[in-house]
Amino acid sequence: MNCIFCKIIAGEIPAGKVAETENFLAFRDINPVAPAHILVVPKKHMEKPGELALLDGDILKELFKLFQDIAEKEGIAESGFRTLVNTGPDSGQEVKHLHFHIIGGRKLGKIG
Ligand code: IMP
Repeated sequence: MNCIFCKIIAGEIPAGKVAETENFLAFRDINPVAPAHILVVPKKHMEKPGELALLDGDILKELFKLFQDIAEKEGIAESGFRTLVNTGPDSGQEVKHLHFHIIGGRKLGKIG
């Protein structure tokens, strides 16, 4: 499969790794929009967040704990950050491998 995030997960192309758990990898966005801009991806290829709901419930606990761990590691847990997912054409999703953006380190504008 020609998926850039699968290649990062497989170690075939380099990425600025931030954290890793059994089911997720977190690495720095190559084109950051803020001082902290990290992508969290499931190691298993999927396109949409709804597909995560089909997996074991503990995987969501693992994911939300990872968000918090990353925020603390990046020093943005108190100042604040945004977690967002683009899904489908209207959102502008570019990479068809589910990814959660964690963005912070500056004052963020309203979304929409
Ligand atoms: P999307 O618009 O939500 O699909 O966001 C895709 C994100 O992936 C963008 O913010 C890109 O900058 C980022 N991106 C694309 N290729 C790479 C890469 O090879 N390494 C890290 N980030 C990437």
